[in-house]
This record gives sequence, C-alpha cells and structure tokens, in this order.
Amino acid sequence: MIDFKNAGKEQTEFLKDAFLHKKIAHSYLFVDPMQVKGIATAYWLACLFNCTGENKPDGTCNECQRILSGNHPDVFLVDSDGKKTLSIDQVRPLKQELSKSPVEGNRRFFFIKDAEKLTLAANNALLNLLEEPVAPVVTILITNNENQILPTVRSRTQIISFENEKIDSLKSALLEYGLTADEIEELGNTDSLEQEVKYLYQELFEHNDLALVRAYHLAQSASLAKQKFVFYWLKSLCLQDLDQHNNVQQVSHLLDLLIQCDKMQTSNVSFINCLDYLVLNF
Ligand SMILES: [Zn+2]
Repeated sequence: MIDFKNAGKEQTEFLKDAFLHKKIAHSYLFVDPMQVKGIATAYWLACLFNCTGENKPDGTCNECQRILSGNHPDVFLVDSDGKKTLSIDQVRPLKQELSKSPVEGNRRFFFIKDAEKLTLAANNALLNLLEEPVAPVVTILITNNENQILPTVRSRTQIISFENEKIDSLKSALLEYGLTADEIEELGNTDSLEQEVKYLYQELFEHNDLALVRAYHLAQSASLAKQKFVFYWLKSLCLQDLDQHNNVQQVSHLLDLLIQCDKMQTSNVSFINCLDYLVLNF
C-alpha cells in the first residue's frame, strides 16, 4: 500500500496547480535519490484525477484506496523487482495498454520505477510510447539518477526534481541524530559514503566475510562525522526495510545491535570495536 503522505510537498503543489489549469504534461521524469517520494507523488497524482472525495485527493475514498493498493485498472506500475535491468518485455505491456481507453477515469497512468535500469531496447520502445501523440495517458519515469536516462527520453519528459528536498531533510535528520552543523558541513556530499554503507548493509545480510573487511576499511578512513553518519545510515536502511516489511525479524535484530552501538560510542568505545561488535553479533 502506497502512503501518499510521503509525497513531496513542493512537487504536489506544483502538480496540483498544473492540474487546475489543465496543464498536466503527458510525460514526467521524477528524479528522486530515494524514489520513495517520487513514487508516492506519482500515485498522489493518479488519486488527484480519480478521487471522489471533497478534498482531492483525500487518500481515503474508494477510488484512492484502489489506486494506492495497486488495484485500479487505469494505473500501471512497472519496476525492476530487484533485478539489474528493466527489459523490453517489462515495458511492452504498456504499449499494448496504450491503445485502450481508460476503463473508468479520464486518464491512464503508467509509472516506471528504477527507470535508470531500462535497457537500450526498452528505452527505444518507450520512446515510441512517449512520442505517439496518444490517448489520454500520463507516463511518469522515476529514477534515482537522471544522468543514466537517455537524452532522447529525457528531452521528451518534464523533469521534476526531488533532490533538494532530500538534502534538506537529510540535514535536519542528521542534526536530530546528534551531528553538529560543522560536522554536517564537513561531510559534504554523502553519496559515496551512503553507497559504501549500503554495501556493508547488504554484506551483513548475506553473512558475507567481506563485511568485516569493509568495516575495517570504513574505520580507517572515517572522521568522527563520518563515523556518526555510518551508524545513522545503517539505521535508516533498517527503517526503510521495516517500512517495506522486508526481513522484519533480521532487520529488527540489526536495529537492536545498532542501538547498542550508539550506547557503546557514547561510552567512548572506539568506532572499529563498535563495528566489530556489530558484524560478529549479527
Ligand atoms: Zn479520494
């Protein structure tokens, strides 16, 4: 079930304005590092068109509920399902759907998550879909990396960015977590550190020996600010997984260990000893 409370505030305001002026584009590219807000905003838009409540979209009427639970005949989602690529076979059904009229509302919605994973063939199939001046369809590509979208695709879409929002909300979350403003400044762009921590997280779950190697590597290179960030980011990955009900038991266990690590850090246990404790007890 999608929760459109996660939808971007500025972005929904912008789209609502376009909707009221009948200026909704027929294709968008949502650039969102985490994709959560992007997806929620896409579903929010489908609800806006179909909601039967007074405050559109309310998220609670029958139409909204069907859309948010993935059971509306005019709303389609294609995603990579954890695979490395999005193939033409996954995009093709959309082309078939394209020739049909909306079943119930006055627009159909095609959402493509993980659009950076589209293969060349899938991209080309999509081009036709974006080109053909078609039936009332709104296609929304959602990606975490705008640079991996073919320029030919990009140029046919209206781009809506969720990136600033990510930076702002990350900053305030880190302040809340106990980092000082100076430390946040020192961290700068956290993209590569996030990636490194994500690998560690995956290795932990695979019970891969590399986890320990990576932990040592992180410990060698990490300033105090980075150390705090590592634990912060491991926790956010856990919370994201809990949110999506992935591996609930294991994730909860890891979260318990991370809270233990927080306590160890405040009593001056070294970073590497905390990581050691984490890897060996998980
Ligand atoms: Zn509604």
